[in-house]
Amino acid sequence: MSEQRECIVVTGASRGIGAAIALALAQQGRHVACFSRSGALPACPGVPAEVSARWIGAKADVTDPAALAAAMRKLADEGWRIKGLVNNAGVHLDGPSAEISLEHWQEVMDTNATSVVSACQAAYPHLVATGGGMIVNIGSFFDKLGVKRNLAYCASKAAVGAITRCLAVEWAGKGIRVMDVAPGYIVTDLNADAMAAGGPLRAYLDKRIPGREPGTAADVGALVASLFTPAGGFLTGETIYIDGGQGIAH
Ligand code: NDP
Repeated sequence: MSEQRECIVVTGASRGIGAAIALALAQQGRHVACFSRSGALPACPGVPAEVSARWIGAKADVTDPAALAAAMRKLADEGWRIKGLVNNAGVHLDGPSAEISLEHWQEVMDTNATSVVSACQAAYPHLVATGGGMIVNIGSFFDKLGVKRNLAYCASKAAVGAITRCLAVEWAGKGIRVMDVAPGYIVTDLNADAMAAGGPLRAYLDKRIPGREPGTAADVGALVASLFTPAGGFLTGETIYIDGGQGIAH
């Protein structure tokens, strides 16, 4: 089978950071299977046709392990060799820790953490069959912070770091590398209201992020895409923080 029939699966690729990752990978010449609940292709206006032609839309809810496995099987049946996976889909819910419901906790853990395990398990036989590959999990710099009203979100992203380290060690012998890319504040749909210029979160961040304003989805897309080049060849099991220095600033 030719090199052109290889693809990388990106979950939550219809918008935000996932769309930017799908764009950066396609600009590198890679085919990208774009998973989301809607199955929509990335919302990136003005993309040249030769780039968007490298996107394959696929419907899969990451909280449904059977749907993830079926979507990857369908790709394989259509002749695609899955060479990589980016676990990006996620939700952010907040609320006072004394009051959040079990449903709140479960939705965040299911979407942000359990889904990473399910997608990695679904991808595993495909990656092994192609001699290995790269998995990138999108965590958050909240993974190492205690953030008021963010109990479930912080716990889910800390779990992403732990999942990354465990799979990196266990699957290294199969040629599979696993990385955690942990962004700081990035302006997307997930936080657009809070981030609006002049809003309280934005005013706080403008003081806390050394040197510059909040990051963009394109910043994260470029970093993730670089891990699929020889630059990522000797990396595994690590968390890379991409937060403009906010996580280490005092
Ligand atoms: P957005 O809300 O902008 O996009 C979320 C994406 O995930 C959409 O494509 C959505 O597509 C998809 N999605 C959501 N739930 C599911 C599901 N159950 N199954 C499949 N797809 C799903 O989020 P961001 O781009 O901001 O965030 C992306 C990732 O980056 C998340 O993991 C988030 O935690 C992380 N992150 C974001 C930061 C930020 O500041 N924005 C900071 C740190 C980390 P659809 O609705 O079509 O299914």
